[in-house]
Amino acid sequence: MDLAFSADDLRFRDDVRAWIAENFDPKLKAMQAQSKNGYLDKDAMVAWQKKLYERGWVAPDWPVEHGGPGFTATQRYIFNMEMASAGTPATSPMGLKMVAPVLMAFGSDAQKAQHLPPILRSDIWWCQGYSEPGSGSDLASLQMKAERDGDHYVLNGSKIWTTHAQWADWMFCLVRTSQEKSRQEGISFVLVDMRTSGITVQALPTLDGPLEGQQEVNQVFFDNVRVPVANRIGEEGKGWTYAKYLLEFERGNAYAPGLKTALAKAKRLAQYEGVANDPDFARKVAELEIRIAALDATELRIFSSLSSGKSVGAASSMLKCAGTDTQQAISELALEAVGLYAAPFVADTWAELQGRSNAPRPGPEYAAPIAPAYFNYRKTSIYAGSNEIQRNIMAKLVLGL
Ligand SMILES: Cc1cc2nc3c(=O)[nH]c(=O)nc-3n(C[C@H](O)[C@H](O)[C@H](O)COP(=O)(O)OP(=O)(O)OC[C@H]3O[C@@H](n4cnc5c(N)ncnc54)[C@H](O)[C@@H]3O)c2cc1C
Repeated sequence: MDLAFSADDLRFRDDVRAWIAENFDPKLKAMQAQSKNGYLDKDAMVAWQKKLYERGWVAPDWPVEHGGPGFTATQRYIFNMEMASAGTPATSPMGLKMVAPVLMAFGSDAQKAQHLPPILRSDIWWCQGYSEPGSGSDLASLQMKAERDGDHYVLNGSKIWTTHAQWADWMFCLVRTSQEKSRQEGISFVLVDMRTSGITVQALPTLDGPLEGQQEVNQVFFDNVRVPVANRIGEEGKGWTYAKYLLEFERGNAYAPGLKTALAKAKRLAQYEGVANDPDFARKVAELEIRIAALDATELRIFSSLSSGKSVGAASSMLKCAGTDTQQAISELALEAVGLYAAPFVADTWAELQGRSNAPRPGPEYAAPIAPAYFNYRKTSIYAGSNEIQRNIMAKLVLGL
């Protein structure tokens, strides 16, 4: 197998590198280095996405007809690899990578025209309303009611763990339109304007520290929220099919490029702190390097088969488990690398020390986000369908158990 890039691919790689050097400026780099969850604040994320949009690269997976760049599979790989290697900020996935493919596949022409252009320009922010209290892994048990009243649905219930709902203009939402049909057939997929009256967004505190600026998850309450029937995607009662289609995109990420960058950072931290040559630490680094190399090869194989029009299918579950297990292992290694310096950054202690004049520095700046990131990354094996559930899916679809 010839893994060398063609001359055109190398030119494309140089273009991407040059663009990153020009646009990923020191201020953004500093913000990104202090992020505990990979996200910037909303203004900074939108500004970054708009820069990518102007270059035509904000939606690397979109087809050309909807404003995508028309990358080949190799270009997409190079683009993702260069962005991840440089440690550029994440784009918000809910619009660009989740609801957009569903709109393209199942939306009406009017829905595509209304939503796809502003998603591409990052003029509107989306959130995902799937999970409910009591309905996470067993998503088909969801209870949020949508009762028909003329040309509207009336929504009552709540959604939980809704990432960045506090910033969202729109939510794509699974609702129960029928109690009589089977659990799956009673579900519909609707688009909800978050400015509709009756919606309340409440922040959920998480293990990783104070909410200010980096609030991530919320509970969203719906009290007689009127949503036009015209905002339903596809057919009533077919929401489960569209929801599952979306989940393939949510889970079908390339993890290896970002993992290489994260591991390189953990190795740098270990050098600053003098633990890089500790045999036990070095062994863990070697094990992770091997895991990442194996994942990289698997991703290349899977994504090249996608270019021939196949869907990701159960492979997305495999990538999700392997990618997120490794993310967590690297966050544990980084914690080990900074050792005691992680401890003073427990939020209250940090705030208290900052408040005192001539307070001792609790540790080097590079150690500041390590413990919050460690706690934050516990989420990766839970969200997008927990890794236990992904293993069940693989057992059923791949092994036929
Ligand atoms: C940071 C974060 C962001 C999120 N963002 C969103 C979002 O934007 N929108 C959204 O809709 N949801 C979001 N989620 C919710 C996420 O999808 C759910 O947390 C996830 O599906 C698990 O559901 P649950 O929390 O109800 O846990 P449960 O389903 O109660 O599971 C609890 C534990 O039991 C295990 N378990 C459950 N059933 C089985 C089984 N059959 N076999 C083996 N093990 C099982 C699970 O793996 C888990 O370890 C987010 C979650 C997190 C943590």
